[in-house]
Order: sequence, then structure tokens, then C-alpha cells
Amino acid sequence: MRNFPQSYIELSRLLLRLEPSHSSKKEVEKKFHQIEAGYFGEKLVDNTLLELIFPPHSCILTDVHLKIHNHLYIQMDTLIITKKYLLVIEVKNIVGTITFQKHNGQTIRTLDGVKTPFECPISQINRHIQALEQLRLPLPIFKAIVFSSNRVILENVPMDEPIFFRKNLSTYIHQLNQKEDRIDTSQFNDLIRRIQLKQHEMQRKSLCDRWRISPESLIKGLLCNLCGNILYKISNKTWKCTKCESNDRNPITHNINDYFILVKDSITTIECKEFFGFSSTHEAYYMLKKCNLINVNNARKSAYRKNIEVF
Ligand SMILES: [Zn+2]
Repeated sequence: MRNFPQSYIELSRLLLRLEPSHSSKKEVEKKFHQIEAGYFGEKLVDNTLLELIFPPHSCILTDVHLKIHNHLYIQMDTLIITKKYLLVIEVKNIVGTITFQKHNGQTIRTLDGVKTPFECPISQINRHIQALEQLRLPLPIFKAIVFSSNRVILENVPMDEPIFFRKNLSTYIHQLNQKEDRIDTSQFNDLIRRIQLKQHEMQRKSLCDRWRISPESLIKGLLCNLCGNILYKISNKTWKCTKCESNDRNPITHNINDYFILVKDSITTIECKEFFGFSSTHEAYYMLKKCNLINVNNARKSAYRKNIEVF
């Protein structure tokens, strides 16, 4: 039920377009592996949830981005909505020894003798709960912080906070499922609609902006859909991969998004020619036409943007 997060997909494209010697490569790789580990931890928790029997009319949302109001956005790993309760789940896929220091709100991870402080998951989930409370939803809101790895030791766990290992989560949810219904089916459906209306796509800066990478330093050209290596043109309509040798007759459609993710949200024919290495602006124009983009005219030239409904 959970897809790879957008940030994971975007970083994988950035990595493909950074030379091994690029000064940002290691840092981007580190972030990519963190997101990957987080994703696999969340999948493990999803599997635990799938084993449970929920009451009729329950809904499990994953990787939920909500806009509470203009200045308040939250991102939750999992939100369970039933007629009895709401449950916010924050998943931590961390290995090592985790020490909670409730008195100063700091959490320390010790691994191989190295101590690293990180954001206290209790404060983090409390912020999400407080934000949800602003919506005045007709249900009590519960929370669970779940450590998904078996290779974690928890120390000094505050007794009054719902902190679990993955295997203990089932008992907690089973108890919540015994509660009385608070709303009827039509109210439940209204609630789901209200939450869906609050869901939003993150408005993101381009990855080059965020990582302070010059677009000039990216690997240009069309990349293979199978192995990510450079394609070269072998005939009018066919490209071939330099590494796996597969043929590609329509490489622009799976490459165009790289420009929007990495560089900026619109592209001109000249930019397209230069970034993807087409022989002329005429060829670039012909390629852009295949991508089902929106034509945005400005004073001097046409630019093209992603058609949101298509991608
Ligand atoms: Zn290939």
C-alpha cells in the first residue's frame, strides 16, 4: 500500500546525473540511503498492520502530507482513521542504542561507540497531534512511535509515552479497536473527505537549488530506462544504451522529468536541446511535443511545463 516516497525517486534521478567524483555525490548518497532505510522500516510496520483486523470502515493512509493552514504543514508516516479513533504512527528505522532524555527533549543514538543526537520522536509526534487538533475532528487522537528494527535497544523510555517495538504495536491497536464507535458511517465518510481535501503535494524547490548544485555540473543527455547509462542515437528514431545495449525508441518521455525535478519547472526548446543533447532546436521541439506538456508563452519564446494531470 506504500509507494516509494517522491524524495527517494527524485534523489535516485539526481544520483544518476552526478559524476562519481562530484563533490556532492557522497552527501546525496547518504541522504538517499537514509530515506531508503526509512521506507523499508515503514514497509515492515505496514506488514504488521496488514495482519490486524480493523473494525469496518477503517482507513489506513501512508506517507500523509496535510496542509493544516497556510503556515502549517505536517507529514505523517501513517494515519489510521476509524469510527472510534485516529492513530498517528511515526516509524523510526534506527539501529543501535537509543537513549531518551525527556528532561531536555533530546534523544541520543549510540552506535559503535559514536553518539548522535536526533530530533526527539516524542516532540515530533506531539507536534503532529497538536496540528491535527486544530482541525477539530470528531474523534480522539492517539499516537504511536514504532521502532521497526530488531537491532535497537531502547533506554530510559518515558513510561507515559506510547513507544513500541514493531511486534508490540498489534496489542496497542487491538485495544484501541475495542473502543466504542464515536461517529456513524456518514460522519466517517465526511471525515475522510475532509482529510483528503487537506492532503497536498509538497511544493518543492528543484533539487539543484536545494543541494546547491550547479545544473552545469549534471551529466547531460538521455539516460537508459533500464540501467541509467547514457544513450546514443543509432538512427532517426532509435537510441541505444552504451552499457546494456537495449534500444529505446522514446527516451524523452522518461527523461524529461529529470529536468523538472533537478533544474526548474519549465523548459524551452533551446534548454531541451542543450540538456538532452539533441542535434537541433527543431529536434528538441519535436521531442517536447511527445511529452504532453503545457505550452507557457512568455514574451520572447515558448516554454513548456509539466501537465500535472498526465504525470
Ligand atoms: Zn542500459
